[in-house]
Amino acid sequence: MKADVAIVGNGVGGYACAARLAKHGIRPLLIGPGLPVDRPPLTKKALATGVPTLLSDEQRLAERGIEWLDGIVADADLGGGLLTTDVGDVEADTIVLATGLRYPRPPIPGIEAAVVNADPASLGRIATVLARPGRRIALIGAGLIGTESAATLAAAGHEVSVLDVLERPLDRLHDPLPELGAAALAATGARFLGGVEITELATGEDGRVTLWYPGGSLTADLVLAATGGRPRVPPGLDVGAELPLEVDAALRLPGFERVHAVGDLVVVPHARFGSIRFPHWDMAIGTGEHAADAIAGVAGELDRLPYWWTDIGPRTFAEVGWAEAAVEWDDEDGVHVGRDDAGEPVAVLVVDEPRRLREARALLGY
Ligand SMILES: Cc1cc2nc3c(=O)[nH]c(=O)nc-3n(C[C@H](O)[C@H](O)[C@H](O)COP(=O)(O)OP(=O)(O)OC[C@H]3O[C@@H](n4cnc5c(N)ncnc54)[C@H](O)[C@@H]3O)c2cc1C
Repeated sequence: MKADVAIVGNGVGGYACAARLAKHGIRPLLIGPGLPVDRPPLTKKALATGVPTLLSDEQRLAERGIEWLDGIVADADLGGGLLTTDVGDVEADTIVLATGLRYPRPPIPGIEAAVVNADPASLGRIATVLARPGRRIALIGAGLIGTESAATLAAAGHEVSVLDVLERPLDRLHDPLPELGAAALAATGARFLGGVEITELATGEDGRVTLWYPGGSLTADLVLAATGGRPRVPPGLDVGAELPLEVDAALRLPGFERVHAVGDLVVVPHARFGSIRFPHWDMAIGTGEHAADAIAGVAGELDRLPYWWTDIGPRTFAEVGWAEAAVEWDDEDGVHVGRDDAGEPVAVLVVDEPRRLREARALLGY
């Protein structure tokens, strides 16, 4: 099979890139397992209903002028423009890597009993257990994915416990997010156990899973592991670089004239904030579109204002800007403003008031 542009990875960044290329009149080939599935609903509506949210279906892909190959890229000769998939080889003039993150389970004995809900492939298994009401669910990890999932499941009437080695939910994020996140989680009825290191899991004859930790244990109908993601590229790919991939202003991989990379996989040069890694939904779209513009020869600098949000039960936390540059945060008229060491606003956190995002953007000069 031949393609002008082959996109490896059919998630948020890959699909955004394909849709934008099609708008430029370039017919892309989108490669990935199954139809493109959106990720954020996997901790929200799709988790509660068991039904994935598609970014597009076969008919709409065809209408938009996007070719789709339902397969996995197993190897590649990037310089030679050759991709080896489980359903045949692809020769491409230009390649876009959009393979996102992998979500390995933590190295705990018996961890195979835990399901990883960051991947749409696990939805069926989760839905089978959750078909009965009032299930006992244990979540390992209280980062964004774990905390959101716990809140969604508790709000759906399940008995949820979240365990983390850290003392607070969202503890790796800046203040006041951990405190606000803990309150939002508690309001859904989920129980948080902090400072807990799980030592072992075992499945009983009744199919339920017991988790042990120093001084205690708990038994659950379903255990979800949400302990973070690591950048991934197709196996066998010699990109000649460390992960995440550092790309240039055209999101091109150094050393490869016709290979781009987008989404969670990359560190990008941002016009305002310098070299940034921002593995969130809106930037996956932004980098996907930017790579398409670069391929079409119309890209400028990447200046998309970083934006992410999280829904913890009924509460929404949304942030714009680059929080890593903030040295202090203050509540200014109901929004949390992060300022850099020169006193300039670099990030704004808005809680439960999506309408104020416009104001937050303006404060950052966007
Ligand atoms: C569960 C979950 C909830 C999230 N919630 C939020 C949220 O509320 N707010 C927010 O701002 N961000 C959220 N995010 C982050 C956001 O969804 C990601 O930043 C975004 O999906 C990254 O896009 P991507 O294209 O890099 O990777 P993905 O969207 O993960 O897509 C990668 C794709 O590559 C495919 N792939 C991998 N390897 C191969 C291969 N060898 N061959 C072919 N295809 C391959 C995969 O099947 C997948 O479809 C969430 C992420 C997850 C996982």
